[in-house]
Amino acid sequence: MAIRVTVWGENVHERTNQEVQEIYPEGMHTCIAQGLSEDAEIETQTAVLQDPEHGLSEEVLKNTDVLTWWGHCAHQDVSDEIVDRVQKRVWEGMGLLVLHSGHYSKIFKRLMGTTCSLTWREAGEKERVWVVNPTHPITQGIDRYFEVENSEMYGEPFIIPTPDESIFISWYEGGEVFRSGVTYRRGAGNVFYFSPGHESYPVYHNEKVQLVLKNAVKWAASDATWIDNCPNVPVEQAPEKIEIKGVSLHKPGEAGFK
Ligand code: ZN
Repeated sequence: MAIRVTVWGENVHERTNQEVQEIYPEGMHTCIAQGLSEDAEIETQTAVLQDPEHGLSEEVLKNTDVLTWWGHCAHQDVSDEIVDRVQKRVWEGMGLLVLHSGHYSKIFKRLMGTTCSLTWREAGEKERVWVVNPTHPITQGIDRYFEVENSEMYGEPFIIPTPDESIFISWYEGGEVFRSGVTYRRGAGNVFYFSPGHESYPVYHNEKVQLVLKNAVKWAASDATWIDNCPNVPVEQAPEKIEIKGVSLHKPGEAGFK
């Protein structure tokens, strides 16, 4: 069965800025989805901020193996209820790819538990994306590095928890460096943050960027699901025979998870 990917886009600059519109006439989400769809193992649909429930209904998320997230200027417009919903699905095993300025999205900050701040500069400088982890599934097909001709500089310090895995480090023409590809596990879900993707440059038309995203989708997808409802195990179901000692504050059969 194909990996079901929902490509989520904030879809604001594509409609309000002429330069961005020229690069992504159908929106960045459409371009990202088209790149992913070139792979026969990947099936895509798109969702945008302006859709009812931001296009992320319970039904859509239930049928999503991997969600990609691009947002920049409207993070605050994403409803907390939807953020709760996405977080729950990540815990259950849905993969999440957080792209570029998505470092400041509600969902990424929530999952990281830090400010996710970084340094930045918009000067169209060259970015050299170095492979840190050459045997990782996400870097397959990439040699030592690839380049993005015009990029927004994202630099250290990047205020994130120590990554589970470091995948890429970027160097910029202006001299800064940045952990541009990092992975995390949150609950049963695989999370990948990938920084290239400023909207005023054609970054998502770059073949290497598209390859990284395809690899990342396959890495993040998981068949394993864990519904974490904190189940109570009654005394009679304990692996070894035991007797109740003392008082029990909970009623028999009471759900542990609220
Ligand atoms: Zn940007």
